[in-house]
Amino acid sequence: MEKNNIINEDIDIQVAERRNLKGNNFKFKKYLMFIFFFLIFLLPFIVLAFKSNLKLNFSGINAVKETINDDLSILGHLPYKEISKEKLVFIEPNIEVHIDMRKSLLKMRDDAQKNGINLVFLSGYRSISLQKDIFYSLKSMRNQIAAERAKVSAPPGYSEHSTGFAIDIGDAYKRETDFEVEFENTDAFRWLKENAAKYHFKLSFNKNNKNVDYEPWHWRYEGSIEALKVFEASNRNLKKQKN
Ligand SMILES: [Zn+2]
Repeated sequence: MEKNNIINEDIDIQVAERRNLKGNNFKFKKYLMFIFFFLIFLLPFIVLAFKSNLKLNFSGINAVKETINDDLSILGHLPYKEISKEKLVFIEPNIEVHIDMRKSLLKMRDDAQKNGINLVFLSGYRSISLQKDIFYSLKSMRNQIAAERAKVSAPPGYSEHSTGFAIDIGDAYKRETDFEVEFENTDAFRWLKENAAKYHFKLSFNKNNKNVDYEPWHWRYEGSIEALKVFEASNRNLKKQKN
């Protein structure tokens, strides 16, 4: 057979051409196989590269998210959603608070009273529309621009009061210090500073806050998971300011 083929090749060009074609085909297949194995060899590296790229992308997204989070604040105030009505309870005829903090707040007032301190609740939950009235009416009354006003009152949608977890407190014996920095010189404030944490209350705008003026009367509750979630961004910012 071998011999025959050789003879054929010599005299029959067509056969030779076919053989040549077959050879090309074989070379092509070999070439394909080579690419195939090369790709298989490369596959783990490709997967690895893709994975790390994905990771990079995700961390990129997180970084963007964080920036967005930081940028959400207006004039030093963070945005807060309005709490749903079902979660609010009256603790006084004109003061509503988040149901989570009622018990703790009233216990704090009772215990203060046992120590001869009379705490007065000045303002609890405020709707965004009420905050709007306060922000804009006081601003024009005091002839202040928004940035100045924001130092003493949050813009609508940016007040801790709309969460139901904030309470403004005064001293029953020193009503002239209501909503004033002088409240810090009252017995009520001194008692709060020493004891409020036991009831999960914390001063929101302390003296270190760069953007918002010191508000010794404004306390917020952080004694429930929901409250902690609400103030998570704020606490993160406070941490950053300290560093
Ligand atoms: Zn307040």
